[in-house]
Amino acid sequence: MAVNCIFCKIVRGEIPSRKVYEDEELFAFHDIAPVAPVHFMLVPKQHLDSLAETDDSHAALLGRMLVLAPALAKQQGLHNGFRTVINTGSGGGQEVFHLHVHIIGGGRIPPMVRRD
Ligand code: 5GP
Ligand code: ZN
Repeated sequence: MAVNCIFCKIVRGEIPSRKVYEDEELFAFHDIAPVAPVHFMLVPKQHLDSLAETDDSHAALLGRMLVLAPALAKQQGLHNGFRTVINTGSGGGQEVFHLHVHIIGGGRIPPMVRRD
């Protein structure tokens, strides 16, 4: 656990959040500034700065996150599909340096890349 990490503080309950899911390894909570009607984050309780800091030892954890994502999305009413986003590093637009998967859906989801 990193002392000053916002998401570690959310996992520890030191910063309030609207919890979506919790088990021994994983925690999910609604984004404070949603970009769609449903927007929550799935994080490992273990502090990892980003996807770039993962290796083979994290394969099972990352697999669990991806397998859990559709189940949580359905629980949140996303029966028609959803978007998963993992921003990695400053070059990937990451702002909070605790690995997280955004799960986003409902309403109109724009194309990822504008082609015009
Ligand atoms: P990133 O840009 O790092 O992929 O995403 C960070 C996300 O964390 C942003 O969507 C932002 O709205 C969200 N966020 C930042 N601080 C907090 C917070 O204190 N509580 C919650 N629930 N979300 C936060
Ligand atoms: Zn952390």
